[in-house]
Amino acid sequence: GTGPYDPDNIFAKILHGDIPCNKVFENEWVLAFHDIAPKAPVHVIIIPKKPYVSFIDFSKNAAPEEISALMQSTGHIAAELNLNEAGYRIITNAGQNAGQEVPHFHLHLLGGKALPPFPV
Ligand code: 5GP
Repeated sequence: GTGPYDPDNIFAKILHGDIPCNKVFENEWVLAFHDIAPKAPVHVIIIPKKPYVSFIDFSKNAAPEEISALMQSTGHIAAELNLNEAGYRIITNAGQNAGQEVPHFHLHLLGGKALPPFPV
């Protein structure tokens, strides 16, 4: 969660168009796409375009406009996917204890059913 950024990680390859994704949303700062192994009927991955290893890195080093872009994009995506009425969950795994698998900071947006009690 805190080491150097690996430019060959899978989300970097998606960002650069080297491997495909099922895109949900994109703007100057953010890309969002469906998770390849969804844990709920809606499972979207939302990432900053700039290279941050995890929330630890992002929260320390991202510019305020980048942080607000990520948060506002996430809210916009949830609304567009009609999740607001029933509600949804946002998760980020930061580092080893959380089981973070992909070392490019990302939010998981989960919804579309009643989710199991936290943690999921
Ligand atoms: P983490 O454990 O790092 O928080 O979550 C990584 C997520 O990325 C997992 O939910 C996994 O299913 C998803 N994932 C891994 N590889 C790919 C991929 O190549 N494409 C997409 N769309 N999702 C992926």
